[in-house]
Amino acid sequence: MEGINLGFQFSTYKVFEKVNLSAEDSKLTAIVGPSGVGKSTLLRILGGFIKPNEGEVRLLGKKVTRPTPRIALIHQSIATFPWLTAVENVKLGLKYRKLPKDEEDKIARKMLEIVGLQGFEEFYPKQMSGGMRQRVAIARALAADPYVLLMDEPFAHLDELTAEGLRQEIYSTIFNDETSLKAAVLVSHNMNEVIELSDKVYVINGSPATVVGEVVIDMERPRSSKDPKFQEYLD
Ligand code: ATP
Ligand code: MG
Repeated sequence: MEGINLGFQFSTYKVFEKVNLSAEDSKLTAIVGPSGVGKSTLLRILGGFIKPNEGEVRLLGKKVTRPTPRIALIHQSIATFPWLTAVENVKLGLKYRKLPKDEEDKIARKMLEIVGLQGFEEFYPKQMSGGMRQRVAIARALAADPYVLLMDEPFAHLDELTAEGLRQEIYSTIFNDETSLKAAVLVSHNMNEVIELSDKVYVINGSPATVVGEVVIDMERPRSSKDPKFQEYLD
């Protein structure tokens, strides 16, 4: 996925301009920068949820003009539907796949298991903690079987132990040959997390903001779940 010359403004306030970035296949790309610089807005633009004032987003060479099931976004603020149980929330992510009902149910439960919520399938969001709701939202994003996963501070509301487990789950899902997921973009304030997970980091800063730095983290990492080093890396 590429963002080409992206610019955005809220009425007369120019948030960012001339933002060029690319998220390659089999890589995790991070975006860092101070609070208010426009990271969440940029992620929404990459997902096709809002239109940029300048430039364009491309996925597999095609312009992204609206939200597509091929791009999933995990929002910064917790986004679960309070009137639906955990498993029903996850099933929303599966709707467009038009699977038979029992298959839908099976996958939704499997996704909840992946994020460590086995046993909580029939719980409503109000019966769960903030971190558990965040995990439901992550399961819903992954259930859509997207090509690109955009994550806006996905671990920020979680305790360190849960965050660590989920980072590994997400990492193995990204590079798992069984899913369609190819590329991921992570917005995070946690530099340890960024260094641990990312292959490339974009630093955004200034007013209007733009890309002020691009760092490639060239670390040997397994790139396929079939790689014997994969399990070793996760352990
Ligand atoms: P944080 O790290 O705190 O999450 P961010 O980098 O994600 O910050 P954004 O949420 O993208 O920042 O906001 C970028 C800028 O756009 C901010 O200055 C904010 O005040 C402004 N902004 C965001 N949403 C709106 C809106 N709906 N109307 C007007 N201005 C907005
Ligand atoms: Mg934000």
